[in-house]
Amino acid sequence: ERKALQKLRRERTRTRDDHDIELWINAETREDIATGHMLGANGVGLYRTEFLFLQRDEVPDEEEQFLAYRDAVLGMAGRPVTIRTLDIGADKADRTGLALPDEPNPALGVRGIRLSLRRPDLFDDQLRAILRASAYGPVRILLPMVSSREEIKAVRLRVKRLHGELSKTHTAIREEVPLGAMIEVPSAALSMSRWIGLVDFVSIGTNDLVQYLLAADRGNDALDDLYTPLHPAVLRVLADIIRTARLRGRPVAMCGEFAADPMFAPLLLTLGLEQFSMHSSSLLEVRKAIRACSFEARRAMLPQLLRLQDRAAILDWLHATAAMD
Ligand code: PEP
Ligand code: MG
Repeated sequence: ERKALQKLRRERTRTRDDHDIELWINAETREDIATGHMLGANGVGLYRTEFLFLQRDEVPDEEEQFLAYRDAVLGMAGRPVTIRTLDIGADKADRTGLALPDEPNPALGVRGIRLSLRRPDLFDDQLRAILRASAYGPVRILLPMVSSREEIKAVRLRVKRLHGELSKTHTAIREEVPLGAMIEVPSAALSMSRWIGLVDFVSIGTNDLVQYLLAADRGNDALDDLYTPLHPAVLRVLADIIRTARLRGRPVAMCGEFAADPMFAPLLLTLGLEQFSMHSSSLLEVRKAIRACSFEARRAMLPQLLRLQDRAAILDWLHATAAMD
């Protein structure tokens, strides 16, 4: 079985009806990048930058960040690396040099893009480091916890100004550094048609999107029965996000854990997802699951999927349709 899986390293991620699906990796370390490259990942779909800021007493400066991002870009040898700007808030802040005030409700507090926009010096250092890394290969900027159009507009302007300044001194910086937004806050999902024109791509963060849609803390084990993407509300929102992105010609990936479970690959293809991003340890399993599916047959099942009433019905549907690809 392991051997059969290893053979898939060299295979394409192609459905039975010859539809190519992209598998990207979520990465942090050098090993993650090396493995992803070896497995033929299409790129890094989520490079989390928090690790550079945690477990220490000072903030990494532009140079330190630049070196880390440059190494990731070099490691992917020409495939795009999607660098997510800092997603720290009082929830993830186990020791940082950021001097974050305590908050009564960190998951709903100053985290992600909210923190970056309130700390312009910190944000500029990170954006400059990312832009400089673009001299070594294709880089994309991904914004976490976006909830409004204004946030994206503010970042666009900032990136444009920094790009202009840097281009005068560092000539190798890439002309095109695409800007994207995570969709993980319900307001961003539900108002997507109003802001999608401001970004080049989107990535769905189901870990947080599920938490916020269901008002169920993603880290609270007592809520395991409630915290699940297999809820009609979640599926409806996901279907809308993917459809809107397609209509507006913006690539849409999913980088939450939902995309990393091979069992759910048929369901995600039914929703129309064509870019999955996950830790490299799940990549071959997901590739195998996708290769057993027919994209067109799956797409035809969408109305059926969106009519299901609850988690049990969704699970039954997954089993019942397994033989229909
Ligand atoms: C998510 O929310 O789904 C996500 C990928 O981001 P993180 O898990 O880092 O919050
Ligand atoms: Mg998230």
